[in-house]
Amino acid sequence: MAKKKILVVEDEASIRSFIVINLERAGYEVCEAESGEDALELLRHEQGVGVALLDLMLPGIDGFELCRRIRSGGSKIGIIMLTARTQEVDRVTGLMTGADDYVTKPFSPTELIARIDALYRRLGDVVSEDTSSLRSGPFLLNTRNRTLDKDGKRVRLTQVEYTIMQYFLENPDRAISREDMLSAVWGSSNMSELKIVDVNIRRLRIKIEDNPADPKYIRTVWGYGYKWSD
Ligand code: CA
Repeated sequence: MAKKKILVVEDEASIRSFIVINLERAGYEVCEAESGEDALELLRHEQGVGVALLDLMLPGIDGFELCRRIRSGGSKIGIIMLTARTQEVDRVTGLMTGADDYVTKPFSPTELIARIDALYRRLGDVVSEDTSSLRSGPFLLNTRNRTLDKDGKRVRLTQVEYTIMQYFLENPDRAISREDMLSAVWGSSNMSELKIVDVNIRRLRIKIEDNPADPKYIRTVWGYGYKWSD
């Protein structure tokens, strides 16, 4: 099995090499970038990155913006934000931009590795091996062509609807808040836009459910959001 590959984005060379050395010692393959711009460039051609560690304070675009841009490209890699203790207040913002977890500086290598391993477990098979298709019940999502088939028949989706489907299939049987959906699909943390989630879910149900009035796949989690089940 291939080594798990981690991207480390940190502008301070001493911290970056501390992380890199410890991850390599723990058996990870590591690639590194010292700015968000470099990281985006690297992600364009580097295959198989499973988890990215993003320092919050970076020159140029910061960790939040980097996270948002990675997610807006449809990437499903795991993202852990690295923040200073004084930035605790930013936790919510970070999770809104699509980060999966948070590690506060200073951290021990053991703690960091534990969090990376936990994230890998949560991501499951999604980031491993063949990521070009996701299957669930009668559905087959092709992430390379961005298409959806139901029982072998093509379902015509808008890009937004496709992205919602991908997010569902990557997180099956998990209650997803409307806020998370807004953040993951639209890259927005603007609560006044939550309605757009519901509108798109309604349209998507019409396209994919056997009976949109009694949805079987996209379930409503009352007062919270939605859940995919097949
Ligand atoms: Ca920094």
